[in-house]
Amino acid sequence: MKDLTQKKNILEKAYDPSDFRTMGHQVIDLIADHLEKVQTDPNQPVISYQNPEDEFAYWQQDFSSDSGTFDVFKNILEHSISVHHPRYIGHQVAVPAVLSGLAGLMSDILSNGTGVYEMGMASNAIEKIITDLVAERIGYTSEALGFLTSGGTLANLTALLAARKAKAPSAIWEEGHQEKLAVLVSEEAHYCIDRAARILGFGSKGIIKIPVDRHFKMDTSLLDDYYNNAKAAGYHVIAIIGSACSTATGSYDDLDVLAAFAEQNNIWFHVDGAHGGGVVFSKQYKHLVKGISRADSVVIDFHKMLMTPALTTALIFRKAEDSYKTFEQKAQYLWESQNTREWFNSGKRTFECTKLMMSIKVYTILKTYGEELFEKNIDQLYGLAIRFANMIKARPNFELVIEPQANILNFRYLDSEKTDLNTLNTTIHKTLIRSGEFYIVQTIIQEKRYLRTTIMNPLTKEHDLVALLDEIERIADILQL
Ligand SMILES: *Cc1c(COP(=O)(O)O)cnc(C)c1O
Repeated sequence: MKDLTQKKNILEKAYDPSDFRTMGHQVIDLIADHLEKVQTDPNQPVISYQNPEDEFAYWQQDFSSDSGTFDVFKNILEHSISVHHPRYIGHQVAVPAVLSGLAGLMSDILSNGTGVYEMGMASNAIEKIITDLVAERIGYTSEALGFLTSGGTLANLTALLAARKAKAPSAIWEEGHQEKLAVLVSEEAHYCIDRAARILGFGSKGIIKIPVDRHFKMDTSLLDDYYNNAKAAGYHVIAIIGSACSTATGSYDDLDVLAAFAEQNNIWFHVDGAHGGGVVFSKQYKHLVKGISRADSVVIDFHKMLMTPALTTALIFRKAEDSYKTFEQKAQYLWESQNTREWFNSGKRTFECTKLMMSIKVYTILKTYGEELFEKNIDQLYGLAIRFANMIKARPNFELVIEPQANILNFRYLDSEKTDLNTLNTTIHKTLIRSGEFYIVQTIIQEKRYLRTTIMNPLTKEHDLVALLDEIERIADILQL
C-alpha cells in the first residue's frame, strides 16, 4: 500500500484533514482551559499589557523562531485581551457565547461567500430567519426585510445610502450630486454617522448636529429651528438619525418624537441601535426604544449586546423595497437579473460582495438557548449598571456623570487636594491597565476626563465592581504620597 502522508507535497499538506483534526482538538482544549482559568481565578490577568514597540519586537522574534503552530495559538492567547474575564469592563464588544465561536470556525472553513445564493444556501436562508425575527421584535410588519452585514459602521452607511435613494433626487446614483444634502443627528451620535455623511458627499455642513439636553439625549425642542435654518441655507435635509443608545453615555434619544418629526417633514428616519437596539429582546427594557417601529431603517449589532462574535450586524428596513433599491446596479456575472426581488441573493442588497457566514453564529445561539438568552443578558447587564451607579454614588470620592440608561457608565475620582483631576484620572487608568487586574477605558466628556466602563460580561459580579472601586481608591492614595 502507498504511504499517502509521506507523499504529500506542501499544497496537499495545507489541506490535510488529519493534521486539522489533531491541531483542532488541541486548540479547542487550549481555549477551553483558558476560559476555565479566567472564570475561576481572579488573579488571572485580563490583559498582559505591553507597549506597542515591545509587542512588535516580540512578534518579530516569534516570526523568525522555529516554534510550532500550536505555540502560535498559545502565544496569541497570551498576548490578547480576554473579554471573557469577569473584570473585562472596557469597550462595547460582546463577550461571545462560546458555542457561536464554533460556528465561526465552520464559517471560516466552508468559506461560503453568501452574496450569491449557491455560495451560501444555508447561511442565506438562516439570515432571513434571523433578520425576520429582529424585524418582528422591532415591531415591523411582514413588509419589512433586512440582512446581516459587517459592522454597525457599514450598516449605518448603507442605511444612509438607502435614505438618499429614497429622499433625494433619484439621478444621484447616475449623475452625482447637484444639490446640497444634509442629515440631522445628535451631537452625541457615533462618529461613524459623521463619517458616512462625508462619504456620501454631504460635507461637514451637511451633518447638522443637534445639541443634547442634560441627559445627553438629542434636545428635540431645537429640531424645528435647526431644520428651518438648514432649509434657509439651501440644504435639502433627507434624514434624521436617532441614537439608541449613544456610545459615549448610553443615552437613548426619544424615538417617538424623532419619528413624528420625520413623518411631518417627509424625511427618512434611521435608528442607530448598534449598541442598545438589542433591548427589543427585553420586556423590561424595550420601553427605551419606544417608537422604533416607526423608523425606516434600524441597525442592531449582534456583537454588542447580543453575545455574538464580531462582526455581526443586522440592518432592517421597514419596507423591503427600500433595501432592494439601495444598490440598483448591474452585476450580470453574478445574477441573472438585477430587478427581480430575490432575498436569497443577499449581495444585491449588501455593501459587501463576499461576506462571512455571520448568520450561523446567531443561529447557533438561538437554537441552543433561545431568545431568552438575549433577554437575560440585557437584563443582567443593564441591571448591574444601575447597581454599580449606586455604589459609585455612595463613595464621596467619586463623581458619576449621569444615571445609566444602558450598561455604560462614566465616572471619575475626585480629590479635594488636587486640582488637576484630568491628570489624576488618566494616571489611575494607566496604572489599572498596566496591573492587568481590570480592563476599563477612559473618555472625555465636556472637556473633562472620565473613567469609562461598559459592563459587557454577564459573569461580572457586584464584588468585581466593588474590587474595581477599591483598587481605584488604593491607586489614588499611592499617587498622593
Ligand atoms: C459601536 C457603535 C457603532 C459602530 O459599530 P461597529 O459595529 O463597531 O462598526 C455605531 N453606532 C453606535 C451607537 C455604536 O455603539
